[in-house]
Amino acid sequence: MRTARVVVIGGGVVGASVLYHLTKLGWTDVIMLERKVLTAGSTWHAAAGFFALNGDPNMAKLQAYGIGLFKEIEKESGQNVGLHMCGGINVASTDARWEFLRAEAAKHKVMGLESHLIGPDEVKALNPLIDTDGVKGALYDPNEGHLDPYGCTHAYVKAARARGATLLEQTRVTDLKQRADGGWDVITDNEVIVAEHVVNAGGLWAREVGAMAGVSLPLTPFEHHYLITEEIPELKAHGREIALTVDLDNELYMRQEHNGVLLGVYETPATPWSLSGTPWTYGESDLLPPRLDRLEDALVRGFARFPSVAEAGIKRIVNGPFTFSPDGNPLVGPVPGLRNYWAACGVMAGFSQGGGIGLTLAQWMINGDPGSDVFFAMDVSRFGDFASRDYCVAKGKQFYERRFRIAYPNETWPAARPCRTSPVYDDLKEQGARFAESFGLEVPLYFAPRDFDEEYTFRRNNALQFVNAEVQATANAAGLLDASSFSKFLITGSKAEKFLDRLIAGKLPKPGRVRLATLLNEEGRLMGDMTCARLSDNGFLLMGSGYLQGFHTRWFEENLSESHVAIRNLTRENPGFVLSGPASRQIIAEALGIDASNAAIPMLSVHTIATDFPITLARISLSGELGYEVYCDAKNMPDLRRKLLAAGAGHGLREIGMRSLNAMRVEKSAGVWSLEFTPNYTPAMCGLDRFVDYEKSYFVGRDAALRDRDAPPARKLVTFELAAEDADVSGYEPVSAGKQLVGFVTSGAWGPRTKKSLAMAYVDRAALTHDDFSVEILSRKIPARLLEGCAYDPAGTRMRS
Ligand SMILES: Cc1cc2nc3c(=O)[nH]c(=O)nc-3n(C[C@H](O)[C@H](O)[C@H](O)COP(=O)(O)OP(=O)(O)OC[C@H]3O[C@@H](n4cnc5c(N)ncnc54)[C@H](O)[C@@H]3O)c2cc1C
Repeated sequence: MRTARVVVIGGGVVGASVLYHLTKLGWTDVIMLERKVLTAGSTWHAAAGFFALNGDPNMAKLQAYGIGLFKEIEKESGQNVGLHMCGGINVASTDARWEFLRAEAAKHKVMGLESHLIGPDEVKALNPLIDTDGVKGALYDPNEGHLDPYGCTHAYVKAARARGATLLEQTRVTDLKQRADGGWDVITDNEVIVAEHVVNAGGLWAREVGAMAGVSLPLTPFEHHYLITEEIPELKAHGREIALTVDLDNELYMRQEHNGVLLGVYETPATPWSLSGTPWTYGESDLLPPRLDRLEDALVRGFARFPSVAEAGIKRIVNGPFTFSPDGNPLVGPVPGLRNYWAACGVMAGFSQGGGIGLTLAQWMINGDPGSDVFFAMDVSRFGDFASRDYCVAKGKQFYERRFRIAYPNETWPAARPCRTSPVYDDLKEQGARFAESFGLEVPLYFAPRDFDEEYTFRRNNALQFVNAEVQATANAAGLLDASSFSKFLITGSKAEKFLDRLIAGKLPKPGRVRLATLLNEEGRLMGDMTCARLSDNGFLLMGSGYLQGFHTRWFEENLSESHVAIRNLTRENPGFVLSGPASRQIIAEALGIDASNAAIPMLSVHTIATDFPITLARISLSGELGYEVYCDAKNMPDLRRKLLAAGAGHGLREIGMRSLNAMRVEKSAGVWSLEFTPNYTPAMCGLDRFVDYEKSYFVGRDAALRDRDAPPARKLVTFELAAEDADVSGYEPVSAGKQLVGFVTSGAWGPRTKKSLAMAYVDRAALTHDDFSVEILSRKIPARLLEGCAYDPAGTRMRS
């Protein structure tokens, strides 16, 4: 029987890149299984354009890596990849779009991209087919272009085979069976191969390859068209290749193909394909019947912008399917709940992203770590069982149709909502709550009158008035927030303490006490900023960000070597509230009928209390005010809310949303996950080092944490007060000292209590002595003052009161 360390299932561009990177990083005992021939899925008929731009800086970095790789694989393999590095332009023809591109251009400086803004004349010089009437300008990146999908895929595989990889074509995987040792029997129509690890790079068939291991991957194939025109005389006359062009406002893309163009459209409505499964008979050279009627609107708009394209005859129409995840980003990494089963699928931009995905997955498999923060960019754990088929179709459709739409910082998208709701959702809605979605759950953002419509803009908008009022009410009296989205893991058993002592970099709390719990990986980078409440000697409640439930469950399982430890995710079972503000002590006391004095419920204590129903009460505060978190069984949550509101009625209690909590935590310079805290950062960078117990003999990441302490990293998290007038930061704005770029913003907000525009940022330590900082917001350099501590109540007297 044949054996392999890794079997990669699928010979499209993504599987090929995974195979290449595994061998490049030293795992050469690898086999690729392809049911037909290489490229027989979506890959062969792709337009194969590659783009440097991406709103997620981690993805932008990986895309830059992938683009840089094309020449290398060509050289290594001897296989021509048909590279056309013609540069790319994203064209804006509305004021809003131009503002968006200007903001993006500033962020690209932080990401290290070579992109820059150009005017209509330069646009015309790069693509003479454009009628620049009404064009405001474009974002140009020299590192964009297109290549030959066949050549690229074959180059990856040839280079991998030269290092020892095996390719078996005409070999379909028909089933997967997990072995007792954690490996897999990979059953094919020819033979059974025993593998330590399997990689699902099944592309159009990734759902089927997932089902073989019992997982339902959140993927939907959608149809997509492009046309190729006959020769266009202007192109012949131009004498050099035109730039890859995205007409953002008409939602189409174009590149040169010989002396004609290839024109692609993300049409509305998007058309999902083969929802009940991809037929095994599809592929190799199959295409879907063209439906030009669906493209008509987009083409009419596009032809006005590219008049000579309208004149040209159509030589060929391609309609092919490719897969989308609900948010349009790939699904990569260890699939939660399975051993040695890795995803590399859901890739809608295989030529922009395939290289980075291959590198990330190979690093993850070989080193146990993807190498950087890839959670939102690609981690398969960002979805849970809420992502049903209907959810995936609705979200995928929404993503497809909004592919080139402007996404405003405060915008919430409507598809597949509500998916999951907290037990008080209807009551909050009745009170005017506006919601966003997090890990499938509706989370209140703010409360507003029924007829209020929020404006989406890059500037402060009309919803700020409600946030200001909620925060003022909290600071003067009290605010109540539905905190059902916070994750809660109950960890019990005789070895629970031992397990957590190893996993958490700081000291564990004593029974009845609460501590912040920093989790690190072996590289000493952050894996969690959780709160640990110790309910008893052998019982702990770990609380964190709800959307990381899959991520943390996987991390706990990977690190659980002790038996006699039980981990239960109580997030849905035990929802609850955050209560903040000076009146919250009286409200808690009256609502629960308890002594809530400082002596009875001191700061950082946790209590299980039997009222009419059992509750867990912790005294912790993210808002900077006196504060509590209170949790109960889901069935009792409406009752708990009624009790708290009734007790709060005489004390000025107001219900608040997450935007208020966010503004308050920024005023306290309190970082949160995905913004200030991610696996890109270490404790000494972000200030979580004060929760690391360097004296402990062992915890995961200790050696690296000691190095981090002894040689502090180049950047440090700080807070600035900005002289911003009408727009606050939204993330990744450049920070300069004089003319020098010295850092970037992670998050910020208008501070309703401090009446200040605030920004948290990672800045070069060496630059911290400067006094001429500025932050670029919407193309304007805004003077910034470095704060010594946080902007609100730096001594912390209010929360300790
Ligand atoms: C019309 C069109 C235009 C596009 N244009 C672009 C573009 O300009 N730029 C860009 O970046 N992307 C573009 N794409 C998307 C691009 O094609 C995909 O991102 C990419 O091909 C995905 O590659 P993959 O390897 O994940 O999947 P696939 O190409 O689908 O490969 C999966 C492979 O797995 C094999 N397989 C599946 N199941 C099994 C099994 N059980 N056993 C053995 N083998 C199996 C299949 O035969 C197939 O070869 C376009 C797509 C379409 C349809």
